Amino acid sequence: MKQRFVLRNVRTVHEEEPFDIVIENGFITELAAANTAAGEDGFDGTGLYVSSGWIDMHVHAVAKLEPYGDAIDEIGVKQGVATIVDAGSCGADDIGDLAAEVARSKTNVFAFLNISRIGLQRIDELSRLEWIDQGKAVKAARSYPDFIVGLKARISQSVVKDNGVEPLRRARELSGRTSLPIMVHIGSGPPPVNEVLDLLQEGDIVTHYLNGKKNNLFDPDGKPIPSLVKAIERGVHMDVGHGTASFSFQVAEFAKDHGIEPGTISSDIYRGNRINGPVYSLASVMTKFLYLGYSLQEVISAVTVKAAAWLKRPELGRIHVGDAAHLTLFAVRQGPQSLTDSEGETRIADRYIEPKGVVVNGSFTAC
Ligand SMILES: [Zn+2]
Repeated sequence: MKQRFVLRNVRTVHEEEPFDIVIENGFITELAAANTAAGEDGFDGTGLYVSSGWIDMHVHAVAKLEPYGDAIDEIGVKQGVATIVDAGSCGADDIGDLAAEVARSKTNVFAFLNISRIGLQRIDELSRLEWIDQGKAVKAARSYPDFIVGLKARISQSVVKDNGVEPLRRARELSGRTSLPIMVHIGSGPPPVNEVLDLLQEGDIVTHYLNGKKNNLFDPDGKPIPSLVKAIERGVHMDVGHGTASFSFQVAEFAKDHGIEPGTISSDIYRGNRINGPVYSLASVMTKFLYLGYSLQEVISAVTVKAAAWLKRPELGRIHVGDAAHLTLFAVRQGPQSLTDSEGETRIADRYIEPKGVVVNGSFTAC
């Protein structure tokens, strides 16, 4: 018996015309005119948008970790997010535990491997260089080739202490040995952020690129610093990674004024900033970009097509017959929503994005 499920009368952000999506045994098997597909089991999406499943490029998905931890499905399917990418919660010592937990979850998960073998068991994980164990990291990367999508290096003062950019140099070497790109977290210095950027190559990611800390990527006049412009020219990818402390409306406006768009919009979500803000959800972070004046198409693209392209998994960023079904259903509601950034500045948006359901590998969860 085929398992058949129909999402009825949905539309994309690109086309007015609604349609039905037929899912059988986990795969999209038909795109039909609205309300014409046969099948009892389904969901009426009248008035809703559909996109390929949202991808959150920066989350913390290890429930037992404090402060940077949360349960996979709390920050995944329950928020309308089909795919999450854990941003370095684990190093070589416990990446296997995360992989095992993923097998018990509904959400699709990838991971950046922390270059420190201890990952976020401590929040100064790069303060001692002996924790960067290249042999162990290479072995972990080889053991989980379909799960680990990159290396994570948190290069800010409280993490590296007196080590400057040396941990990033070692990440660069490890990147060469594993052919994995690096996601670098930036924040307060030292090291100065230009030294960090200058070590990045095409395909690497800067997360927290809109942070409002002293060591940020824009000068006091709001101009991008030269090493940021050069990094973007080299093909370094800019990721939002909102987090508790890393998103400033003012910096986001500086970036927009200079055409520095997000490669990906991500949350850096974990228990504390999910429950108490200022993150709450990926949808809330996406709403901030609508508020800033990015179009709905641009915002959705930053959590679908662009994220999937970076992951080199284009099928995760499209709705095609024959692909595994990864979809997000959502509404754009009119009405005021209060949005607060990491600096405590509040803006009022006049519309907001609300997830209504998600399909991962064909199975549907309502939000
Ligand atoms: Zn993070």
